[in-house]
Amino acid sequence: MSLSAASAPARRPAGDAIVVATALTRDYPSGDGVVHALRSVDLSVGRGQLLAVRGRSGSGKTTLLNLLGGLDRPTSGSVMVDGQEVSAMGEDELVEVRRRTIAFVFQSFGLVPILTAAENVEVPMRLVRAEPGERDRRVADLLEIVGLHERARHRPHELSGGEQQRVAIARALANRPRLLLADEPTGQLDSETGHRIMLVLRQVVRAEGITAIVATHDPLMIDVADRVVELQDGVLIDA
Ligand code: ADP
Ligand code: MG
Repeated sequence: MSLSAASAPARRPAGDAIVVATALTRDYPSGDGVVHALRSVDLSVGRGQLLAVRGRSGSGKTTLLNLLGGLDRPTSGSVMVDGQEVSAMGEDELVEVRRRTIAFVFQSFGLVPILTAAENVEVPMRLVRAEPGERDRRVADLLEIVGLHERARHRPHELSGGEQQRVAIARALANRPRLLLADEPTGQLDSETGHRIMLVLRQVVRAEGITAIVATHDPLMIDVADRVVELQDGVLIDA
């Protein structure tokens, strides 16, 4: 058997997993010592799943999401997303993956203040030079999915926090990513609004057939997930 034939199967995700993290480790230098933010995490996430990652502040949730999305690089271990080894990619490849395959939603929404809701959703499609007609249709569909059809022409400061996060979710979905990573998307919202945002995420995972990984430390947010894992001091356990 040739070397390439022998090594190929190990690089393929097991089963129908879209995300496979293997022995994922991230150490941060800190003063004289080192912080073990993630300790040899193994995680496999099936397509179409909504996975919640819980854990108290400082447990490693943001570190994990950043590594899965290629915003940061592991100290050791690997990340495969949709058959591609994100942890081994160069910057140019990562830019492309973050435009098309992996999308992020953050606690702070991150909308462009001078753009309307519709224009914010359209930004990622402009970056990949989608046709104007296709952009308009997709923006309308997405605003409908997140329940903001009537707010299309409003600017972020004219929207509530929950509405701004809906726009950010719609924007994240613009280029039909396979994987949505949401880092405490409800962290700035009251618990009722936050719960509604989780239901929106639940809805878009179904409607768009994507996979979502949501970091949260709010126990109320856990009930809409298909699966819950917990980080404790950088160690991942099935919850
Ligand atoms: P969470 O998102 O669960 O609050 P983080 O992933 O942000 O946890 O942090 C995990 C640990 O790594 C914490 O101890 C945190 O202080 C540390 N940490 C995170 N980012 C850095 C960094 N850039 N430099 C040094 N330590 C960091
Ligand atoms: Mg965090």
